[in-house]
Amino acid sequence: MSARRLLVTGGAGFIGANFVHRWCARNPGDRVVVVDALTYAGNRATLRSVDDKPSFRFIHGDITQLTMMQKILREEAIDTVVHFAAESHVDRSIAGPGEFVRTNLVGTWTLLEAARCEWIEARPRPHRFHHVSTDEVYGSLGKDDAAFSEANRYDPNSPYAASKAGSDHLVRAYLHTYGLQVTTSNCSNNYGPYQFPEKLIPLMIVNLLAGKELPVYGDGLNVRDWLHVEDHCAGIERILEHGLVGETYNVGGGNEWRNIDVVRELCRLVNEEFAENSGLAHQFRDCVASNGGSCADQIRFVRDRPGHDRRYAIDGSKLQRELAFTASTPFEIGLRATLRWYLDNEDWWRAILDGSYRE
Ligand code: NAD
Repeated sequence: MSARRLLVTGGAGFIGANFVHRWCARNPGDRVVVVDALTYAGNRATLRSVDDKPSFRFIHGDITQLTMMQKILREEAIDTVVHFAAESHVDRSIAGPGEFVRTNLVGTWTLLEAARCEWIEARPRPHRFHHVSTDEVYGSLGKDDAAFSEANRYDPNSPYAASKAGSDHLVRAYLHTYGLQVTTSNCSNNYGPYQFPEKLIPLMIVNLLAGKELPVYGDGLNVRDWLHVEDHCAGIERILEHGLVGETYNVGGGNEWRNIDVVRELCRLVNEEFAENSGLAHQFRDCVASNGGSCADQIRFVRDRPGHDRRYAIDGSKLQRELAFTASTPFEIGLRATLRWYLDNEDWWRAILDGSYRE
């Protein structure tokens, strides 16, 4: 494949940064430009390891700014957009939906429009616009329902899911109306390094290490399909390389777990890590495991999130059949590796907890 010139939006966020790390390591000849508004979820420190690469450039910018986005596409001769930038936390979308409409809908439209003006109107050339979306657009599954396939009807329940659903429709419309060369992926819950500690797994880990309570919504029986972020990034890579224009691909982890079981497993792993490594008790003095206690005693059931989807599960067979891709990380292994990453990278998450990462 010839060298690409990528624009990665939201590259200072969780999945975008993991994607940039992976792409820069595997494709050193490619240009990688990140545009990120550095909202609360964006963290410049997450990209430090690629900062010194001459092929990498970071631009602090907002995807809703059409003139700026067009200028970047033109000046950098971008041929591939990988669009991660979004407001991504369901709880925040319930408290304040406006920002979700602005970034997820207006921001996606702005990028599509910039790409259309540059790639279709001004300087026609081979190009690809890949849009990263979520399984939440499909709504909620019952216990025995078949997993979501690409043919499922859209049925979003939260303002977050609705804003992502709208952005998916805009992407599709730009293919059918203007011939923009698009692909879309809808994935399940990601986990792994550099995830902001408001999402379930990193929140539980940092609370465990700080000796705080572990809040679990409702009865804890909501089911999610967990996808390791490295598998997700590998899936996107495969779609960019071999995916067909106009297609949508579901990316799942094949790891359905109830929330309460995820939290209990994390408690077990923390107890185990502390038992094996006596240095951890010194490093994390407030953790219950430091004093020989049981982490699971910290679990507290709290009032459920409004409109909380009961179950998500992804049918990833299209990606497997057509592009020979399947996620390969078993959840137990990925979860332990993720816990170890947070144990080894205390500075990264402490800076978020004390707010210094934004200075
Ligand atoms: P994140 O919240 O960690 O990161 C989002 C990034 O986008 C941040 O760096 C933020 O600064 C940036 N951003 C926000 N508004 C912006 C704007 N107006 N202009 C430029 N940058 C802006 O999100 P994430 O978990 O990495 O998710 C990435 C994408 O994957 C999102 O589109 C999300 O909907 C999708 N997704 C995530 C998951 C998951 O489990 N995390 C699951 C399915 C789909």
